[in-house]
This record gives sequence, structure tokens and C-alpha cells, in this order.
Amino acid sequence: MNKTNGLVWFKNDLRLLDNEVLCKAIASCDAILPVYIFDERQFKKLHLGLPKADFNRFEYLVQTLAVLRSNLKELGSNLLIKIGKPEDIIPQLISNYHIESVFAEQEYAPEELTIASRVAKNVQVPCNYIWGKTLYHIDDIPYDIEAVPLTSKAFRTNTTKKATVRNLFDIPDHIKTLDLDNWGKLPNSEDFNLNRGSAKELFMPAGEDEALKRLAYYTKESELLTSYKWTRNKSLGMDYSSKLSPYLAVGALSPRTIYFSVKKYEEHIKKNISTWWLLFEVIWRDFFTFKGMRMGSSIFKTAGFKNKDLDFENDSNIFKKWCAGKTGIPFIDAHMRQLNETGFMSNRGRVNCASYLIHDLKVDWTWGASYFESKLIDYDVTSNWMNWHMQAYETWYTNPVNQSIKYDATDFLKKWIPELREVKGELIHIPWKIKSTKIEYIKPIEVYDKWSRAENKILKLVNGK
Ligand SMILES: Cc1cc2nc3c(=O)[nH]c(=O)nc-3n(C[C@H](O)[C@H](O)[C@H](O)COP(=O)(O)OP(=O)(O)OC[C@H]3O[C@@H](n4cnc5c(N)ncnc54)[C@H](O)[C@@H]3O)c2cc1C
Repeated sequence: MNKTNGLVWFKNDLRLLDNEVLCKAIASCDAILPVYIFDERQFKKLHLGLPKADFNRFEYLVQTLAVLRSNLKELGSNLLIKIGKPEDIIPQLISNYHIESVFAEQEYAPEELTIASRVAKNVQVPCNYIWGKTLYHIDDIPYDIEAVPLTSKAFRTNTTKKATVRNLFDIPDHIKTLDLDNWGKLPNSEDFNLNRGSAKELFMPAGEDEALKRLAYYTKESELLTSYKWTRNKSLGMDYSSKLSPYLAVGALSPRTIYFSVKKYEEHIKKNISTWWLLFEVIWRDFFTFKGMRMGSSIFKTAGFKNKDLDFENDSNIFKKWCAGKTGIPFIDAHMRQLNETGFMSNRGRVNCASYLIHDLKVDWTWGASYFESKLIDYDVTSNWMNWHMQAYETWYTNPVNQSIKYDATDFLKKWIPELREVKGELIHIPWKIKSTKIEYIKPIEVYDKWSRAENKILKLVNGK
């Protein structure tokens, strides 16, 4: 390829370490123009009155970009910030800056694929779309997308046997970059009419530097990884699981970086079921990516890719209560309030809130998935929609009363539900059984007979039997 000016279109790969797109562009061009485009469609309200990405997601993205820009500057580069549609902006940049090729991460979900192909159609230069999302490269998995297995076990067993994780791409030493007078300002939430709502402090600090710090902390510094298998189902605090998902979602960290870190840990510190399990979860993310690609846009539809039919009642007042964390079921409300304030929720919380919305409140699972899409700072198309689909059609019911006691959620409930802080003992899991009138917590939408075994277990504990 002739040495030329290249445009690096950053999307969900907001990092310098292990960024193949960036490395390929630097290797193929005399100078590059790194750009990030805020696509207004991401922040517009959709049919449920929810923006695709709400305040917390926006803030997390902006902070990640500020770090990327500063890290690029250290290498002699910068990051151009634009607002608009990529299919309009990129052709303009190509003509203004004599760009002769575009480099960007290859997409996998329908809307993003459409935008990428519109860009390619609107420009007269080659668009190099390079795979980067997963641990195992799309060209290395032993399946064509149409034949990706339906179970994670089949996918994992065969893939780990037959494919190898590719090596990391180093951080470039220096990036020769086009000279621009104006690199543009990072926008703020008002530019997109995003309301703070109940958002408070973001769950995690953003950006690549923090991602690498978090990885080092969870592995070699604290050695929390050694107990991951036994702590991963908890909800309180920072230490029970890796908390790497927000960094993976915006690409501040690559799954390969996690993989090699875990392998080093296994070699120098400890190899056990926990180290295996963390990688099992990262491979699960791959599985959902590839299976989601196989299923196409059916993963966003109520009937799903199984074409199933559930009897949804879709009461919008009930849905609003669920969204606000005001259902009267502490294990659900605590998790939903945490999501609204911080943009994060544990996996245990997600499973329970999804199962409760779908199977108890009988609300269309795609409403819940859209709500999570709007709020989660680790929102990832296939991880979100495939997990919701699984909760609707592919897994068993989860009892939120039983889970609250099983995972010993008392301190978590007290943190997120101030109304219950004074409750003593296990009644906190079933406040509708509290006789005192001093507790000012909402009455439950409904208490189901199927919870009575769990309620009785709690009442026995309360009565010391
Ligand atoms: C209804 C529902 C919606 C979800 N939406 C998302 C989402 O939008 N984005 C997202 O990253 N995860 C999603 N998950 C999966 C999971 O809850 C989060 O990945 C996890 O809670 C993130 O915390 P962690 O990084 O500490 O995870 P850890 O337990 O430390 O796991 C390590 C990594 O493995 C991956 N992983 C773990 N569990 C899953 C899983 N079930 N599916 C796919 N990948 C997984 C994540 O990348 C995670 O960072 C969802 C789960 C459910 C049940």
C-alpha cells in the first residue's frame, strides 16, 4: 500500500494498547487523523422515551475519550472530536484532509453494520474494517458465523481446543499525525439534552489508564482473582468480581490483555478454578458476540430467535416502578437504584431484575433490555440483548426473595434502600412482614405464592428456629 494520509475512526476501541486498527493505520500511512464522532442518534429518545445512551453512559464515554486524547497527545498525536453522522462526517474529512484510506474496528451488530456500510458507500477510498472485539479472532474460531453452536459449552470446548489467542499489539512509540488548528471540544450532556435524573457518581473511573490499574489490582496486587469463583455472585462493593466490563465495553481494555494477565497470574501466583472461571466468562462474551451475529436482528425482537410467545401484560406503570427501583421488593429495588445512580449492576442483580420483570411483572423483556441499554456504562449489544433473551426464554425462573437471603444481601440492601436501614435481622428481605408502622418503604406490587418457601425460611431464621 502507498504511504498516505489515513483516518482512524475510533469507536468501541478507545485504547492504545492492543489496538490493531491504530497499529495497522500507522504502519500503512505517512500520517494519520484520529477521530471520534458523537453520533446524535445514540442520544435521541426512542419509543419508550429512553435515549439509547443516557447521562451515565454519556459521561463515562466523555471521560474515556478525555483520557484517550491525552494519551494520544503524549505520542505526538491528538483526537479530533466531531458531532454528527459518521456517514456524513467521514466523507467531509476525507475531502478536507486528503485522506486516502479509512481504518476502523469491524462491527458485528445490525445498526452499527449499516452505518459502517453507509460510510464505505459514501467515500471513494478504501475502508479497512478490522476485527477487534473478542478474545478469539473471528477468523480463528472453528466455525462460520451461520454455524456457531447454540450452546456455550460446545462453542468454548471446540474454540479453546482449536484456536489460539493472538498476541497483543504494543502501544505505538510515536504517532505521526496530521496538523490541525482545531481538534474540537468534548461535548457535554446538555448538547444532547440528557438529564442527570437520579444519576450520581459513576461506578468506575473511566479510561485506559484506570482499566489497566483495575486489571493489575484485581490480579497481582490484591490476588482477589484467586477467590473469584466463590465471590462473583455477590453485589456489594468493588472486590467480588473483576469490574472490567465497563472498560471492555468502550474498548479501553482488550479481552486479550485480560487473557495474558490471567495467564501470567496462573504462572507466577496461582492457577485454580477461579482463574479458569474468569476466562470462561470472557469466552462467554465471545460466544454471545458470535451467536448474536448468527441470530441477527431477531435478538432485539419480543419473540426472539426462538420465535417464542410469552403472555406479556405490559403495564407501563408497573414498568416505571421497576425502572425507578420502587417495586417494594428490596433485592430488586436496591439493584435498580444502584443502576440508576452509578450505571452499574452486578451480574446477580441483572439476572434477578430481568427474571422478575419478565416472569413476575409480565413486562416485555425488550423493554427491560432497552432500559439497561440506556443506563449501563458497560452496555454491550450482544452481552445485553443475549443475556436478556436468555432470561426470557432459555433459563429458569429466579426467585428474588430466595436469592436475597442466599447471597446474604443485607448490607447491600441497607446501602441502597435508606428506608430499610433501621430494620434489624433477616426481615429486611421481606419487609412486608414487618409489623412496625415506622418503616416507610413501599408496599410490594405483589407477593407471589411461589415465594412462600423462601419467606418461611426467613421467618424461621427470624424466630430463631
Ligand atoms: C440481563 C443481563 C444484561 C447484561 N448486560 C450486559 C452488558 O450490557 N454488558 C456486559 O458487559 N455484560 C452484561 N451482562 C453480563 C454480566 O452481568 C456483566 O458482564 C458482569 O456483571 C460485569 O461485571 P464484571 O466485569 O465484574 O464481571 P466478571 O464476573 O468479573 O466477568 C469478567 C468479564 O466476563 C464477561 N462476562 C461475565 N459474565 C458475562 C455474561 N453473562 N455475558 C457476557 N459476558 C459476561 C464480562 O466481559 C466481564 O467483564 C448482562 C447480564 C444480564 C443477566
